[in-house]
Amino acid sequence: MRRLRRVRILATLGPASSDSTTIRKLFEAGADVFRINMSHTSHDKMRELIATIRNIEASYNRPIGILVDLQGPKLRLGTFKESAAILANGQSFVLDSDPAPGDATRVHLPHPEILRALKEGDALLIDDGKLRLIAEETSPQRAVTRVVIGGRISDRKGVSLPDTDLPVSAMTAKDHADLAAALEAGTDWIALSFVQRADDVHEARRIVRGRAAIMSKIEKPQAIDRLADIMEASDAIMVARGDLGVEMPVERVPGLQKQMTRMARRMGKPVIIATQMLESMIASPVPTRAEVSDVATAVFEGADAVMLSAESAAGKYPSEAVMMMDHIGEEVERDPTFGSVIDAQRPDPEATAGDAIAEAARRIAETLHLPAIICWTSSGSTAMRVARERPRCPVVAITPNATVARKLALLWGVHCVVAEDAHDSDDIIHRAGRIAYRDGFCKAGERVIVVAGVPFGTPGTTNMVRIATIGSDADANL
Ligand code: PGA
Ligand code: MN
Repeated sequence: MRRLRRVRILATLGPASSDSTTIRKLFEAGADVFRINMSHTSHDKMRELIATIRNIEASYNRPIGILVDLQGPKLRLGTFKESAAILANGQSFVLDSDPAPGDATRVHLPHPEILRALKEGDALLIDDGKLRLIAEETSPQRAVTRVVIGGRISDRKGVSLPDTDLPVSAMTAKDHADLAAALEAGTDWIALSFVQRADDVHEARRIVRGRAAIMSKIEKPQAIDRLADIMEASDAIMVARGDLGVEMPVERVPGLQKQMTRMARRMGKPVIIATQMLESMIASPVPTRAEVSDVATAVFEGADAVMLSAESAAGKYPSEAVMMMDHIGEEVERDPTFGSVIDAQRPDPEATAGDAIAEAARRIAETLHLPAIICWTSSGSTAMRVARERPRCPVVAITPNATVARKLALLWGVHCVVAEDAHDSDDIIHRAGRIAYRDGFCKAGERVIVVAGVPFGTPGTTNMVRIATIGSDADANL
């Protein structure tokens, strides 16, 4: 099975998609990577989902990526005497360290470090920004706030603090437990929520110790201020537009999405555009034109992947939503303007042998109109640098390492294949041709580009680019 589009599709699993028949349907419809959201999934359920995905992977013999998304420090209010209260505009309202149930005058904020960090003038957004309070007096025990936008406030609603640099790491005790279970179960990617600084990523990396790749979700203004450092520390980023649009004015999100996509493409790190992409398909079999246009924008920008959240996790039309993304991806990439829009944002190669070869491979493929670039990659980094070039032809990445292939399932334009290590240069060329032929990327007699490092298997040795002709015996001894 091969995908005809370069952009990848991430589908979140949830109540609407947790049985193996549905997950298989999502894969067939086009999902390349599955996200398991630990805000809503037990350890047992996560293990069951991972086992199901690995079964589907084995039956299609195609690597499938798994992303376990940690909840992160989502701040919440305590509870109310009558489980809710109504706040009027202009009234004062207190958040304090008293665990007693609240009312229309006060409520518990069960995060002492937040009460300590709040400063006069800081905004507090409650319930995805539906209510807005401004801190007027702060102390380690209580914050007196003025209600700017009131409304109904109820038990355990989320609190966002766009103006406060929180003295919390991106991982809570729950996240530590979830991370350990996810690594044990063999996830390929870990997503960190509410990352504020590069140190949050370093901290996670010390625990992960190379067992999974790390994706930082950019959903706080503090992360926007330190974007380059966070991206440098991460293996990928997610433009997490849901929380980002609560913590910052929503009208800033499209521009930030473009900036982040460009920066990620420059650094050669995968970038995922997430949240509300086909929101109306939670309840309707067809999306709005605006949603289609939103997905198309991400594809035109050259994002590595587009993501479905509730559409696939809890909606009525999970596989239709994946199919719709699949169609949008294919159609946008066929559009006559697509190539020039992508080319306009192509970054220059960095001064490394790997980048020089990746650029050369793309140029040769384009000059000669070759059907594929095939790269042998042991750590995945050669494939990532070739993908960074956003070549017009597909990239086939061959790796002996199944974990690497699964990780690369997120990457723009890359078709991954797990195959035994190559023993010498002849083997590199011959098997590259055969695998690309077998998977439908070229025909006998056609030429392809082969990129590799010789001797094979030593990371960082990309030093070979060859134009190879697919022999008429390409289908022999597959
Ligand atoms: P979430 O993250 O779905 O875990 O909240 C994505 C977002 O905030 O956009
Ligand atoms: Mn979020």
